[in-house]
Parts: sequence; C-alpha cells; structure tokens
Amino acid sequence: MSELSELYQEVILDHNKRPRNFHVPDGANRHVEGFNPLCGDHFTIYLRVEGDLIRDAGFQGAGCAISKASASLMTDSIKGRTLAEADRLFAQFHGMVTAPGDEVPDLDALGKLAVFAGVREFPMRVKCASLAWHALHAAIQQTGESVTTE
Ligand code: ZN
Repeated sequence: MSELSELYQEVILDHNKRPRNFHVPDGANRHVEGFNPLCGDHFTIYLRVEGDLIRDAGFQGAGCAISKASASLMTDSIKGRTLAEADRLFAQFHGMVTAPGDEVPDLDALGKLAVFAGVREFPMRVKCASLAWHALHAAIQQTGESVTTE
C-alpha cells in the first residue's frame, strides 16, 4: 500500500471522509450505476437535468477512497453546467488520467480535479478515478443505465 500513500493527497482524503453530494438529489431524473469489478467500487450517479442544464448531482454507493473522492469532486464540479460542458469535462478528466505521466494537466480546465493526475502511475487506480465519470458520460449520452470499467 505504500505506493498509494502518495496518491492520497489531502483533497482526496478529505472528500473520502466527508463526501459532497452523497445523496439522491430531489427530483433526480437521470441515474446510471457504475461498477469497477477490479476494485469492487460500486456507485450510482444521479442528475437532475432541466433542459440542457445539470441543476443538481449526487451519488450513492461504496468503494475505495479514490473512487469515492472522485465521485464527490465530480458531482461538485458539474452542478450548474450544461450537459455539453459536463461531457467536455469528462473528456478532459479522462484525457488527464490516461495521459503520459510527464504531461502537465490543464489546470485552468480541471481545477481541483487535477489532484487525480497522480493515478496515471497506477493503471488499476485509473479505473477507480474514472468510474464516476464513465457513469456521468452514460447519463449525459443516455446510452444505458449501467456501466462497467471491464
Ligand atoms: Zn477503487
């Protein structure tokens, strides 16, 4: 576990301990269940979408610190965005966690989400960090009610 301790930066620890939006939002009208069998992470992402705007977002479920912190930070950062903006953020986040390790993340676009850049060094953890985002992407594209990283 020692290699992982470097990943567990303050923000991730904080969001794991006190996850934001850890509930089903009132009036949620889209949800997608995400499962990462490799780690056992299992979350459902909920959105309240009005027109093309994400009015509210939340999540439920259980998983490792990285997957939970990622869902927490994700729901925080997509509230109030349009579906197109949130999907663009998904692409940017996914690009960051799958980019070569020496590539500097786009801090202007990603903000706090850049704390997950460190998972690039740990391929198994990339799935933990991106699970909630894959569920979000499916909820935006309405491609189904569940996603799996495998
Ligand atoms: Zn995990």
